Amino acid sequence: MTQQATFHFYDRLNFFLSRRQRNQPIRYDFDRRASIKDMVEAIGVPHPEIELLVVNQSSVGFDYIVQTGDIVHVYPDYEAMDLPERIRLVPPYEGRPRFVLDTHLGRLAAYLRMLGFDTLYRNDYPDDALAAISDLEKRILLTRDIGLLKRSRVVYGYYVRETKPRKRLYEIIARYNLLEQAIPFRHCLRCNGNLAAVEKANIREQLPPNTAKYYDEFHQCTVCKQIYWRGSHYERMQAFIDEVMQTNGKG
Ligand SMILES: [Zn+2]
Repeated sequence: MTQQATFHFYDRLNFFLSRRQRNQPIRYDFDRRASIKDMVEAIGVPHPEIELLVVNQSSVGFDYIVQTGDIVHVYPDYEAMDLPERIRLVPPYEGRPRFVLDTHLGRLAAYLRMLGFDTLYRNDYPDDALAAISDLEKRILLTRDIGLLKRSRVVYGYYVRETKPRKRLYEIIARYNLLEQAIPFRHCLRCNGNLAAVEKANIREQLPPNTAKYYDEFHQCTVCKQIYWRGSHYERMQAFIDEVMQTNGKG
């Protein structure tokens, strides 16, 4: 016998719904026993974007089995509703945000490294590897692939909505409060390795002549050995960071 439950999705979760479904109650028919997680994902919303589920005024976990007549509220923020007891669907993230990005997000990876965030990116990571790295290293998976976010082992993840690289950066800064945690010049833009101060004498022969003449402070990637200095790299990075700070991450 066909059963029916009603779903309400809030705020940024509406992004995953069709235009006519947005900000409307969604009546969902089902005839098989299913968890609330499977049902919200069938409607289109990947579970890592959800922090709080409320059914008939009680907070429930992802494994709750939906009953006919249920009124389901789906929130992107744990704090969205004040209830006597709330089940935390996503454990609080510990420490500075660390990321792993899918193959579409190379520019965003460089920007995040520029702001000092540990960001893994390769243009050939398969989906399995992205999900596994995110799970094992507790990295936030940023992706343009909704199916990838629905994989059960992904705990921390977010679908990047914007399409322009600069706007994507502002979006991620706002989503994870990155501005107050930015530590510029900490990660190599090319490979994500740590940067360390290096003596000019040790790298002198690798520098262009004018650079060797005018600059005295250098950083080097401990992995790929790329050298950074206060000339073009540094100034471009600094200008970029100042601009982001000034716009307060809003673009
Ligand atoms: Zn490097």
